[in-house]
Amino acid sequence: MEKIKIQLTTVPKEKPDINGIAFGTHFSDHMFLMDYVEGQGWINPRIVPYGPISLEPSAMVFHYAQEIFEGMKAYRTPEGRIQLFRPMENFRRMNNSADRMCIPRIPEELSMEGLVTLLKVDRDWVPSAPDTSLYIRPFVIATDPHLGVHVSSTYLFAIITSPVGSYYAGGMSPVRIKIEDRDVRAVRGGTGHAKCGGNYAASLRAGEKAEEEGFSQVLWLDGVHRRYVEEVGSMNVMFKINGTVVTPELSGSVLPGITRKSCIEILGDKGIEVQERPITIDELIEAARDGSLQEAWGTGTAAVISPIGEISYRDESYIIGGNRIGFLTRELYDILTGIQWGRTSDPYGWVYPID
Ligand SMILES: *Cc1c(COP(=O)(O)O)cnc(C)c1O
Repeated sequence: MEKIKIQLTTVPKEKPDINGIAFGTHFSDHMFLMDYVEGQGWINPRIVPYGPISLEPSAMVFHYAQEIFEGMKAYRTPEGRIQLFRPMENFRRMNNSADRMCIPRIPEELSMEGLVTLLKVDRDWVPSAPDTSLYIRPFVIATDPHLGVHVSSTYLFAIITSPVGSYYAGGMSPVRIKIEDRDVRAVRGGTGHAKCGGNYAASLRAGEKAEEEGFSQVLWLDGVHRRYVEEVGSMNVMFKINGTVVTPELSGSVLPGITRKSCIEILGDKGIEVQERPITIDELIEAARDGSLQEAWGTGTAAVISPIGEISYRDESYIIGGNRIGFLTRELYDILTGIQWGRTSDPYGWVYPID
């Protein structure tokens, strides 16, 4: 494997005050870059000062959205060490996304080495205040300067990192969710299972409208029948109905979340039944009406677990679990964050120390 070249910045930035910084607005001093050229593969891995990248206006990513990304975090433990949470799962998923978008795969060890090298260079950027972390954004874009609709023959792989404050700075509280029955995020056969920018572009309109109406996220229904529950905002979703946890199956239009997968494993260990299956909106509303819907929460790297206190469907609202944080919701949050920040032991081997 090619050695990673390191060019250090001569003008290190001042670290922002981690309290109260908005998500994804500050970036560390360096970034990892690597190029793909057809016939040569992934070449020229390098760490350079964080800054603008130069692309032709005709670069394919701007026109046809051949792009994928990932999201994960580096956590500082109470002892001051830095660790990742299941990072190989992210790089494996990135390759699954790459397959769907006709982007060449990146050997997972290569991505991992780039990330670890970057984190070591920027280790002071991993904050240490409680519940803060360094958000990591790997992404790949198509760079051919061509307007023809084709698969690109050149790509740029980049990893940038951003210090983020506590997601629940004001304390965890249940959110209001709007069930979206007009716009859809993804369809089977489309790109819903891939982490690509295009899915997000399609989701913006409904998200904006829901926010205007006082909701914090949209709950997406499937793209064909608008009948089956899929995801909530950019998170997977779980419901506790009559003591059983149900979550939409990975049908092809649902993103296979690593937090989702981890929750399923933890719940299994606790002896709680988990069903991955289709869930109709009628079943959900009925369960909300008769009180058998005891808890609901979203799962994803940014929030880890996000309690849902109210759902609204066609202008009718339903309160879940008295609009309080459910017992299981809280327990999953505590177990996962305990492992991620190294506050508790990790019986699963999910933690990946970088030093
Ligand atoms: C990234 C993402 C998730 C959550 O995945 P995690 O691996 O748990 O962070 C869920 N849904 C969508 C649409 C996503 O992009």
